[in-house]
Amino acid sequence: MAKKKNNQARKDVKEVKKVSKKVHEETEEKKDIEIHNYMDEETEEKNETYDVTPLEDAFEEIESDIEAQDKKFDKTEAKLEKIEEKIADKLDDIEEILESDDTDESEITKEDKDEIINDIKENKEKRKKRYRLKKSALVLLGIIIIILIGIFAGVSFYKYVNSAPYLLEKKGYTEKEVNRIIKDKNLTLMLLEMDYNEYILDIIDAKYYLSKNLDKYLEYKEKNKDLSVDEVVAIINVHADKEWYNHTISTDTTKDYLILVNKVYYLEEDFEAPNIVNMSVRYAFSGRQIRQDVYSNFIDMAVDAKKEGLTLVANSTFRTYATQEKTYNYYKTNKGSAYADSYAARPGHSEHQTGLAIDISTLNSTSENFEDTPEFNWLIDNAYKYGFILRYPENKEHLTGFDYESWHYRFVGLDVAKKIHEENITFDEYYAYYIEGDK
Ligand SMILES: [Zn+2]
Repeated sequence: MAKKKNNQARKDVKEVKKVSKKVHEETEEKKDIEIHNYMDEETEEKNETYDVTPLEDAFEEIESDIEAQDKKFDKTEAKLEKIEEKIADKLDDIEEILESDDTDESEITKEDKDEIINDIKENKEKRKKRYRLKKSALVLLGIIIIILIGIFAGVSFYKYVNSAPYLLEKKGYTEKEVNRIIKDKNLTLMLLEMDYNEYILDIIDAKYYLSKNLDKYLEYKEKNKDLSVDEVVAIINVHADKEWYNHTISTDTTKDYLILVNKVYYLEEDFEAPNIVNMSVRYAFSGRQIRQDVYSNFIDMAVDAKKEGLTLVANSTFRTYATQEKTYNYYKTNKGSAYADSYAARPGHSEHQTGLAIDISTLNSTSENFEDTPEFNWLIDNAYKYGFILRYPENKEHLTGFDYESWHYRFVGLDVAKKIHEENITFDEYYAYYIEGDK
């Protein structure tokens, strides 16, 4: 406060000095002007009195004028001196005031010093406390943030290490494989449950893959590494991984044209094929019988083949359970089980019992040389158009359970025959994948 006051006073002094200087300057200026005026007047008067003859009078007049002017100057000077003195006095007063202000200030400081110091100390303490409080609050906040970040990071990490991609990669699948796996939720869940397997993705991508058989595929592939994945899938699908006749299933006879009968699926002894009719000797050897609807399709096929000069004759057709039993037992009794099994199906396991199968020959051929006839070639290309398929193809013995039979045709209906022909699969494979499926 006092300092401010002093500053103001100093400012005032400056101002007063300024004013006095100005007044002084103005006074000096005024003096100059008056002197000049006088000189000018004198000159003019001189010029005017050039023509005055009595010069003495003139000089006297001039002298008295000068005297008067001198008196005037003296008066002005005295006035100025007085003003300057007053200014000096005022300056002294101001300076005194300034000095006395300083004295007051020091007195106030002394009186209130302790109080002020105490106040300052208290403030300091308060500020310190507040600062400490603030500091603790900040530290606490920081800790909370760190804990939250930790929790978040922990949860994220926990989530990540428990995430499918991480776990799958940890199991050994490549990034590319993982990307392919996680697109399929069920596959992901399944693979997470399993140990790493180098074949599994190829198996799952196999055309006739059935998820119900996955364990069996993997096990079989492990034991038969030289087999292709497609081959493994086919073998497992048709139960060909087991010894024939060792694992048998009573077949579903409601499937009608699509009844599966082989060395796994069998017909019960009391099964009766529907609509069995006698065949004309025009299309079959004497005394042959077949299902009515199969017969009509066979006739259509035989008629069309005939147009191309080919003769299709039904050789072996419908057989009863009893007939099959008799045939099989004949071989078994005379040549043993192994021989019997290679030549005839066991009773209940022959397709001929369904009334859907026909062994085809020509008038002049036997089963053994049927493959060499033009009728054989024509059937390979055309039989499916009439709903028939070559039931025991070459190189598929391990899937059908039967040796290659170039003459044995099976009726499955037009649509299925076409599909089997196009996909070049056996009926056993078709049945496993398209009829039973993943059930
Ligand atoms: Zn046959």
